[in-house]
Formats: sequence, C-alpha cells, structure tokens
Amino acid sequence: MAASTAVRTRVADATEQAPTDPAYRLFDVAVRRVERVGASFVRLTFGGEQLAAFGAGGHDQRIKVLLPRGAFDAALAPATDWYLWWRALPDADRPVMRTYTVRAVRPHLRELDVDFVLHGVADGHAGPASAWAAAVAVGDRVVLAGPGAAGTGRMWGVEWAPPPEARTLLLAADETAVPAVCAVLESLPAGVRATALLEVPEVGDVLEVRSDADLTVEWLPRARPQGAHPHGERLVARVQEVAGRLVDEQTRAPQPGDDDDTEAEADDTALLWEVPEHAVASGPECLYAWLAGEAGVVKQLRRHLVREVGVPRQSVAFMGYWREGRREGE
Ligand SMILES: Cc1cc2nc3c(=O)[nH]c(=O)nc-3n(C[C@H](O)[C@H](O)[C@H](O)COP(=O)(O)OP(=O)(O)OC[C@H]3O[C@@H](n4cnc5c(N)ncnc54)[C@H](O)[C@@H]3O)c2cc1C
Repeated sequence: MAASTAVRTRVADATEQAPTDPAYRLFDVAVRRVERVGASFVRLTFGGEQLAAFGAGGHDQRIKVLLPRGAFDAALAPATDWYLWWRALPDADRPVMRTYTVRAVRPHLRELDVDFVLHGVADGHAGPASAWAAAVAVGDRVVLAGPGAAGTGRMWGVEWAPPPEARTLLLAADETAVPAVCAVLESLPAGVRATALLEVPEVGDVLEVRSDADLTVEWLPRARPQGAHPHGERLVARVQEVAGRLVDEQTRAPQPGDDDDTEAEADDTALLWEVPEHAVASGPECLYAWLAGEAGVVKQLRRHLVREVGVPRQSVAFMGYWREGRREGE
C-alpha cells in the first residue's frame, strides 16, 4: 500500500539535494577533546579551520562520519558529487561511512560535538564507528560530511519540523537518538509541553537536559540487577502508557488507511523513515510525535500511536536510526 501523499518517505542520506540547498561537503577535522559523558556515551569534539564553513541547522542535524582508511584523502574530493567519488574509490581506500548527529556546534571556535554510543565494545562486537570512537585519541584525524554554510534552500538532514500549532510534543528514542532529542529539547521555547521517553543501556547514561519548555524527561535504563531488559521493551511499554493519556478520546476515531502498512513499513530491507511533509498537530492537546531508534522498535511505537491510539499519520515522524543485526548501509 502506498504512503499517503501527505507523508514523504526518505532515506537518511544527502544525495538528493536541490541546487539551492546548502550542499553537503567534506570537512577534514581532528579530535580536540574526548569526554566520557555517560556509561555508554563518549563525546568527541572535532575541530578544524574548515568548520568555519559548517552550516548546521540545529535540532537533529545529521552528518556522516568517514572513518580513516588506506590512502583516503578528502582533499582529493571534487567540490560537488563527493558521494559519487567516495563510492567509486577502491575498497581498500574507501572509508566506512556512518550517520551521526551534531550534538552542539560552535562555529566561532571552529568545533562541533558528536556523542557516540559505544555499543558492543565491552563484548567485542562493536561496529567500526563504535570501535573507532572507543579508541580514538586527541589529534586523530577524521572526515565529516555535513552541510556547508552557503545555500538558501532547505537545510538537509534536519527532520525536526513540528507544525507551528503543536503544543504537546512526544519524543521517544533509544540511546542512538538521545543526542538528537537532547539538542531538540534544548532548543524548545517556553510555552511548549514536551515529554521525552529515552531508553538507554544503564543508569549511568542519564544526562542533564536544560530547556525553557515545560519538560518531562523520563530515562528508561535497560540494565537491572540481574540481566537487562531486551532492547525496546521499556520504551514500548512506556509509550503505550503515556500516549493514551496525551490524546483525547475525540482523536481516537480510526484514520482512513491507517490500518495498512505504509510504504516505509512494508519495505523490510530499508531503514524505516517517514516524516510528514505537511505535519499537523492532532487533538485538543495539539500533539506531535517524533520517534527514533532501532527500526523494529520504532515500527512498533508508530503502529501503536497510529493504530491503537488513533494519532493521525501526519502527526507522527518516525525514523529507524539503526537495525538490529545489520551494519549501516546493508
Ligand atoms: C540520522 C541518524 C543519526 C544518528 N545519530 C547517532 C548519534 O548521534 N550517536 C550514535 O551513537 N548513533 C547515532 N546513529 C546510529 C548509528 O549510525 C548506528 O548505530 C551505526 O550503526 C553505528 O555504526 P557502527 O559502525 O558502530 O555499527 P555497524 O557496523 O553499523 O553495525 C554493526 C552491528 O552493530 C549493531 N548496532 C548498530 N548500532 C547499535 C547500537 N546503538 N546498539 C547495539 N547494536 C548496534 C548493528 O545492528 C550491527 O549488527 C544515528 C543514525 C541515524 C540514521
């Protein structure tokens, strides 16, 4: 079943830009600081003169991290179409590329922060990005792909776009989207009510969040004295408890077509990614929901909101940030 026209489905890359959009380009940077901000999070501060031209859009701005490899030299990349150039490189020289979020950017200091989750490091199952972040040292070089400052079009890589009338925001995420949620929450103005439900590996991952908005932040650590909750279990249960209370009975009328799989859900090989192009806030509480994390978990959350609670699809953005058992890009 095709997605409704009011909902656009998009994958998380920057290869479909319009000429007026601030073009993604490569930034050659070095690690300036390494800070362990949580039991599972390391914050890397990247710095370099090229970041003077970095054009971050704030909120959940995504970038690509190109891990050092072989004879790769970002200075050889063409000014446009770096992505095609990267794809054409010999395997031995093509950097592994992974998607991350700009947690904070300080253009005047030519630096930005990225919070990496160190998944799989303790048990030897880390992916390349997680392993790299766990071992990196000050001075190590890496290449980022992100928006250049020039351009008048849409800021690519920012999916946070609630409708202006939204007064009640529900953000549900796992640890990979905690940097995005924290950046979004910090940007919210007074007068907005936001509930953030954040599942993280352990209690030591609870971070401080400041905002002018009326915030409720609930951290849901998976670890418990014996073993751990499976990934997503606590998040799904809590969203189910909270969502029903946020939505008035009036909005629970079945939404036409909402019992069908969307195009994004039906394609099981792709990361789930659906952001309403013409978002609306629903119900008397003017609700808008933003969901991000492991793809299967996000799918459950979105289904619950739309099918069980009756939230219109145009009031829900959902993004699979990673997929259990799959490397990024597979
Ligand atoms: C828009 C966007 C923004 C993102 N922002 C961030 C961010 O700011 N910080 C961040 O840490 N991540 C972020 N991610 C998620 C990150 O891109 C993935 O976790 C990525 O797979 C990590 O690459 P890797 O090389 O470590 O593992 P991969 O080589 O991609 O995967 C190796 C294995 O690890 C598993 N895996 C991947 N991620 C996790 C995880 N978190 N926990 C457990 N198993 C995992 C995979 O299923 C696979 O089996 C973001 C993703 C997207 C799409």
